[in-house]
Amino acid sequence: MKEYLRELPAIHAVQNDNRFTALQEESDIPYSTLTKWIQDIIHHIREQMLNNNWEQESPTKADLKNVIFTMLKQKSETFRQHNLRYVINATGTILHTNLGRARLSQKAIDQVVLTAGNYSNLEYDLEQGRRGSRHQLTESALTEITGAEAAMVVNNNAAAVYLILRTLAYKQEAIVSRGELVEIGGSFRISSIMEESGAMLREVGTTNKTHLFDYEQAIGDETAILMKVHTSNFKTIGFTDSVDTGKLVKLAQKHRQLLVYEDLGSGALYNFEAGDEPVVSNVLKTGVDIISFSGDKLLGGPQAGIILGRKELVDKLKRHQLARVLRVDKMTLAALEATIKSYAEGDDNDIPVIRDMSLSISEIQQRAETFVEGVRRKSKAWQFNIQEDTSQVGGGSMPDVELATLVVSVCHTQFTPQQIFNRLRTGQPAVLARLKHDRVLLDFRTIATCDIPVLIDCFAGM
Ligand SMILES: *Cc1c(COP(=O)(O)O)cnc(C)c1O
Repeated sequence: MKEYLRELPAIHAVQNDNRFTALQEESDIPYSTLTKWIQDIIHHIREQMLNNNWEQESPTKADLKNVIFTMLKQKSETFRQHNLRYVINATGTILHTNLGRARLSQKAIDQVVLTAGNYSNLEYDLEQGRRGSRHQLTESALTEITGAEAAMVVNNNAAAVYLILRTLAYKQEAIVSRGELVEIGGSFRISSIMEESGAMLREVGTTNKTHLFDYEQAIGDETAILMKVHTSNFKTIGFTDSVDTGKLVKLAQKHRQLLVYEDLGSGALYNFEAGDEPVVSNVLKTGVDIISFSGDKLLGGPQAGIILGRKELVDKLKRHQLARVLRVDKMTLAALEATIKSYAEGDDNDIPVIRDMSLSISEIQQRAETFVEGVRRKSKAWQFNIQEDTSQVGGGSMPDVELATLVVSVCHTQFTPQQIFNRLRTGQPAVLARLKHDRVLLDFRTIATCDIPVLIDCFAGM
């Protein structure tokens, strides 16, 4: 192959080609970047030839130039594409942890755009004309809607757990039931976070049963907190028992200075018909000292950790040096405030998570039929079958709940289900479908109406 090395064009020969000028104009990629890529590509081909790995038979100068341009075009396409990009979620899992959990409401998006593209009063008190605190921006909305005394927002619920234990139980004991030491996924374990915070974890009870006396017997001079963790992503059934928050509060009252903290996980603001997610305001009524939950699970807002509780304790958290480390950005606060406002104003159907959960079968059917008819008009290669199935809430919420849905089962004249699934995943935009019993299924619960024309094009163009 070495004899063809001299057929490799020089860099300037590639740059002088019309295709180079066209690519430069069309892609807007700087000259210097394109030049660097040409260098890399030529270098790569040279290496392949030297190692006898170049497969092309007796390539001419023109052949090699063609190859260089093909590779250059590919590289510029990849370059222009964002790594984080829009994906169509056809899995039916509403809070898909790998797909960004909650979608934001339009109102939240608008507020994010407004505050991100402009200056804002993030830390300026407009009324008093002096420095303000970002904590105050969402505090009133959160306390009003939940009845909490005080509120604070940090980066996510894991950060909330960490900050609370670090501030309120450092080098002291936190008692927690063995049945509640959950692993959330992505290797996040409640027990690890507790240990990392410097609190001493004191496990009580067994996997299936923990009684009040288990906590009672474990309380000692070192105990600072009785902690309860909502077992969000699994259910124990059968011979089980756990102690509810109200009983822990009563127990703590017998011991001065003992705090009760509940990590709620999802943080439902009201009672959903399905599942048994604890409602935030009800949990607060038990007299619990402090609670935390995620902003982007059932609440349907941005990634955040929301802390609610007694003012004296929340103030302590705000004063801790770590509060600065774990603080949230203005975009998060903008989206969270708008999300909470939607609840407060009774417009919770604006929130995609809430809307998707309560979507009617007829609406799902309408979406599915629009899709099927749209593709049929453009391509003869597909066969569709609309059938009953179930969707999941996901995100470690309501593990036992199955929402009745309709899915479109898709078949192609040429491609196998696995091939369809892969092509959808690597397409533009990416479509994540469900692969079940060797069938590709599209669940229209999580496919928004505005996704449908895009999805039709994905199928018609395949
Ligand atoms: C999801 C969850 C967390 C972690 O929340 P993030 O917002 O993802 O950090 C912590 N505890 C429980 C019980 C959870 O369900």
